[in-house]
Amino acid sequence: MLGFGSKPRVCIVGAGFAGLNAAQQLKSSKYDVTVIDSEPFIEWLPNLHEIISGRKDGDELRLSRKRIIARLGHRFCQNTVVDISCTSLMLDSGDMIAFDACVVATGGLDDFSGVSGAKQFAYSAKSVAGCQHIAKVMRRATLGHRTLKVTVVGAGAEGVEVLGEALRAYRYRPQFEFQMVDASKHILPQCAGNLDNAVRRHVEKLSVDFCMGNGVTSVEKEGLYLQNGEAIASDLTIWAAGVLPTPLLNVPAHEAAAPRQWGRVSNTFQSHRFESVFVVGDAADMPPIMAKEAFHAIDMGRFVAMNVERLLSGKRLKRFDPTTKPQVVSFGDLDTFMVFNGFSVSSSMLGAAKEMVYTLGLLQLSPPTNPKDFVNALDVFQRSMRRVYLPTLNPVSIVGKLTRARLLT
Ligand SMILES: Cc1cc2nc3c(=O)[nH]c(=O)nc-3n(C[C@H](O)[C@H](O)[C@H](O)COP(=O)(O)OP(=O)(O)OC[C@H]3O[C@@H](n4cnc5c(N)ncnc54)[C@H](O)[C@@H]3O)c2cc1C
Repeated sequence: MLGFGSKPRVCIVGAGFAGLNAAQQLKSSKYDVTVIDSEPFIEWLPNLHEIISGRKDGDELRLSRKRIIARLGHRFCQNTVVDISCTSLMLDSGDMIAFDACVVATGGLDDFSGVSGAKQFAYSAKSVAGCQHIAKVMRRATLGHRTLKVTVVGAGAEGVEVLGEALRAYRYRPQFEFQMVDASKHILPQCAGNLDNAVRRHVEKLSVDFCMGNGVTSVEKEGLYLQNGEAIASDLTIWAAGVLPTPLLNVPAHEAAAPRQWGRVSNTFQSHRFESVFVVGDAADMPPIMAKEAFHAIDMGRFVAMNVERLLSGKRLKRFDPTTKPQVVSFGDLDTFMVFNGFSVSSSMLGAAKEMVYTLGLLQLSPPTNPKDFVNALDVFQRSMRRVYLPTLNPVSIVGKLTRARLLT
């Protein structure tokens, strides 16, 4: 059993938006914090799709966890947690780590459930590597004359962002045909303001088809089958069909047949299973149900650190009150939607808002502490300036774009 020092021991499982924000709040002078993640880099998920068009490269969207966590004075352990009890967790390597409090922030996994061949033949856009692969296949297709039929499965925010980015780079290339497939009848069904209509209008004159109202039942190398029995051809299938909880959250662990479930917690984020374990971010199933969004995960991570401290000092835990923030969904260079509760606003100028969140978010996760970091941060800002802020916000284009801003109800 691994255990370190005499300060209260806190383990954080998952170093994504929620886990890293929790780690940032816990002082290494007061707590012995171990952060565990299977992967060495945090990837900036909300902008990954921009790799597909070549607008960003993988390195711009990845930060070293080891570096971020070492700067906080905490310990990073690259490993997968396979089980948790009320006082310890077990790693894939077979080692155990003891804790006094644990934060589980394991996010979600691609939801391939029940679709045969999806994991094997469809490409996920949920990682830098996945998006780089998609970008490579599309780039290669521009060199030949063969048509590349690109299918995006999932018409939620992720699917729309992926399609938008593919259209940004390839919509006028004769080699490409695009289609979007979803079990839902509408594009962006959860968003107010009939965004279905808005998206369709942008692609009316392009080679884009929508097969809506039919789920995918299987994926093969050359295409997919839909619920109604229809087979559609596809050379490149991109999977953007939602997320599932990680198996670690299955309750109890020995019931292997238990359906996948998000970690059930009270409104303090304390898990229903163990008092010493909190679940936050996408992994948390907290009433009221919140959208699985980075800004909620960040708020939850920051908040749960306070409750960990309160638990460890014997104080009453505080309740979390989620704040509402608009969701920003980009559709390549064709449009950007800011989705509020009950209405949406559409304007391609809003793309600059998404870029601003990205540049400030990187700085917040990894603030520059030496001249080299500072130069790197400046470089990120300059690239954003060149690719997004100046083309979007220069006075000439603002005039044109303001006239196209629309309220969608
Ligand atoms: C393609 C895409 C686009 C998105 N776009 C937006 C957007 O525009 N705006 C927005 O607000 N949100 C967006 N989101 C959602 C947002 O990224 C998530 O809500 C957010 O990442 C959730 O943060 P988290 O910390 O809960 O989980 P994650 O960021 O998913 O982090 C979970 C971490 O846990 C680790 N982990 C999992 N299981 C284990 C284990 N057993 N042992 C060790 N480590 C483990 C994983 O490796 C991962 O690093 C997007 C998501 C995706 C996938």
